Amino acid sequence: MANRTIMAAGNWKMNKTPAEASAFVEGLKPLVAGATTEVVVGVPFVALSGVLAAAKGSNVKVAAQNVHWEANGAYTGEISCGMLKEMGVEYVIVGHSERREYFGETNEMINKKARAILNAGMLPIICCGETLTQREQGVTAEHVRYQIKVALLGLSAEEMMKSVIAYEPIWAIGTGKTASDEQAEEVCAIIRQLLVELYGTEVAETTRILYGGSVNAGNAKVLFGMPNIDGGLVGGASLKHDGFTAIVLA
Ligand code: PEP
Repeated sequence: MANRTIMAAGNWKMNKTPAEASAFVEGLKPLVAGATTEVVVGVPFVALSGVLAAAKGSNVKVAAQNVHWEANGAYTGEISCGMLKEMGVEYVIVGHSERREYFGETNEMINKKARAILNAGMLPIICCGETLTQREQGVTAEHVRYQIKVALLGLSAEEMMKSVIAYEPIWAIGTGKTASDEQAEEVCAIIRQLLVELYGTEVAETTRILYGGSVNAGNAKVLFGMPNIDGGLVGGASLKHDGFTAIVLA
């Protein structure tokens, strides 16, 4: 099996002011300095500048939570990949279920964003996941396979291996309801099998697949120990030093 580096990626959503965000990262740095896990914080756009400065020279990497796929133009309120790249952003989270649900993001838009992110020299963290209804209907595998297949259209094998997929069952996000390690592993294995079909074994074994959905200090170790789970995308628990540090060190 390939040696995939575990990633702990925080998704702060619409939390922390620029000053709070920079101070948080200043405090986080010494706590995670010795981690073997790749540490990423996904911060609001307005906090990127301060967080990038605070994270400089440390092992804390910085992600944006969204981006537009066009290079520039009449898209009021949007941010381009070129803007993020110039600042020093490494990762961009795309296709989060909240973006899909509240802002109408489609698989096609997520595919365009992934393309633009890679073209700009950054890396996408591509989210997918089913609703509770879809799980109860027994269509989780079909739904997630479809989401990921469209999101990855046109990505080369080399681009795929650098990109990250995050499986986040919507019913487990921010609800305190975690998927069991078996449930999370089952879907992450389905995604890896899809990568085998699309790209072959080497790419599938190299690409990281995260689990997200109420990951916390108590469940991270077991989840991250599953064969097809390579870390977590963490919302609520990433907002506090103790919770996030425990996850990073899990
Ligand atoms: C998320 O927003 O990606 C997430 C997984 O949130 P939480 O950890 O709070 O469930």
